[in-house]
Amino acid sequence: MRVIILGPPGSGKGTQADLISKEFSIPRISTGDILREAVREGTELGKRAEEKMKKGELVDDETIIGIIKERVGKDDCKEGYILDGFPRTLPQAQALENIPTKKEIVFSFNISKEELVKRLASRLVCPKCKAVYNSISFPPRIPNTCDLCFSSLIRRSDDNEESIERRYKVWESEGNVIIEYYAKKGNLHNIDASLDTKVIFEQICNIIDKKI
Ligand code: AMP
Repeated sequence: MRVIILGPPGSGKGTQADLISKEFSIPRISTGDILREAVREGTELGKRAEEKMKKGELVDDETIIGIIKERVGKDDCKEGYILDGFPRTLPQAQALENIPTKKEIVFSFNISKEELVKRLASRLVCPKCKAVYNSISFPPRIPNTCDLCFSSLIRRSDDNEESIERRYKVWESEGNVIIEYYAKKGNLHNIDASLDTKVIFEQICNIIDKKI
């Protein structure tokens, strides 16, 4: 099973991908997390991606597609995986067609820009296990501490006003094209991402349960 979550930055993709990952025992693959790790480690990939990420622009398709091909080929993806932040362009969606899967379920998270800006201002992430929280709508059990690995939570460096604006613009231009692509394929499920985290998760589980 391949689960794809589409949506603008801050729409809750990471939070739901974490919950789905736990529920169905399949890994969450976040291209953003892979790139951030590469930047932290100072690898060639990290050096290439860093500037684009800082500005809120997309990293080139060839690099990203290469990352995904390598990652989904690993053993832990045999039973399935969740893609969070990929595909983000039409060539990326088309490249995914060359990676076969028995079932593909695509969710499109819809939410207003005002709500996104509010959410990104209160987003917290775990630098170690990459879990995503929100200090208002999805707080960790202990303030500023990851529920899963107890590391101190941080804010993402690109969650600043300028980068949020740029990322949202990029999403508006590229995102709709991909949504249309999957709508035509017939496997797109629209989700009202302004709802409560638990309510959204229930809706997602119901859809996945019916498909598998
Ligand atoms: P995210 O964590 O998904 O918000 O991604 C953070 C940043 O990583 C984005 O603003 C892009 O610069 C880069 N990135 C992540 N995924 C992709 C992708 N599929 N295509 C191009 N760039 C990406």
